Amino acid sequence: MSRIAYVNGRYQPHRTAAVHIEDRGYQFADGVYEVVPVQRGKLIDEDLHLDRLEFSLGELEIAPPMERRAFKFVLREVLRRNGIDRGILYMQVTRGVAPREHKFPLMARPALVITAKRLKPVPAQYLEEGVGIITIPDLRWKRCDIKTIGLLANVLGKQRAAEEGAYEAWQVDPEGHVTEGTSTNAWIVTKDRKIVTRPLGREILPGVTRRALLALLQAENFVLEERSFALSEALAAAEAFLTSSSVFLLPITNIDGEKVGDGRPGDFSKRLRQLYLDHAARQVSAA
Ligand code: PLP
Repeated sequence: MSRIAYVNGRYQPHRTAAVHIEDRGYQFADGVYEVVPVQRGKLIDEDLHLDRLEFSLGELEIAPPMERRAFKFVLREVLRRNGIDRGILYMQVTRGVAPREHKFPLMARPALVITAKRLKPVPAQYLEEGVGIITIPDLRWKRCDIKTIGLLANVLGKQRAAEEGAYEAWQVDPEGHVTEGTSTNAWIVTKDRKIVTRPLGREILPGVTRRALLALLQAENFVLEERSFALSEALAAAEAFLTSSSVFLLPITNIDGEKVGDGRPGDFSKRLRQLYLDHAARQVSAA
């Protein structure tokens, strides 16, 4: 089945789908995006993603390209046309096409692109052995809560991680506290079994997986602390893990070449990953 992309109202072959060179996303990174996980052909936490898309658009004063009901229809149509069973839907909204000038154009209409991608299951090795990460200074702007397509610092961070044989890079603020990964939220489990993740604020993306997991943990009476944690605390933690829509939850067993805990994925990481998978499975069977 060949891939199909939705571009400004038209379904086009993915191979040749294109936007104009004066799209403000291309010129200024003047746009936002979302990634929605798909399991067994069903969207997971769709409304939370659409809520965040609305928030991101609102913060940048970009008009929503369509109403939520229409959005949901097009998302399903892209999924159907691509025959995706497990993977992700990617949607991007930019301020539109206009002659290049920094200030908002008067006439441009927001531009919407939606694509779908099949994903392989997370490699068993990541779950059995955990992944390694490096740490880097957080070089990003002061509105990391907006899911903008301006991801240069994240791109450079992920590239450094790859060059060092690591899966991800945790970004660290000037106070020595971990903000988040380049495309994932950051968590630790302390030796006294508290689950810690940075509180929401302008320094991190409000991850949908983070939000869903927090709700599950509260319902299961885990001890949670939404607070900043220092890199030194992560290095001394019993466990560390990361969350995102595309991998859900991965245990981290190595930070900057140092073992986390005993260097093996811990019980919390395994249980919490399962909790999240059960949450996704419930949505699949309810849909
Ligand atoms: N933090 C950053 C910087 C991200 O780019 C992402 C996902 O793309 C996340 C966290 C995780 O967010 P979510 O769970 O909504 O995928």
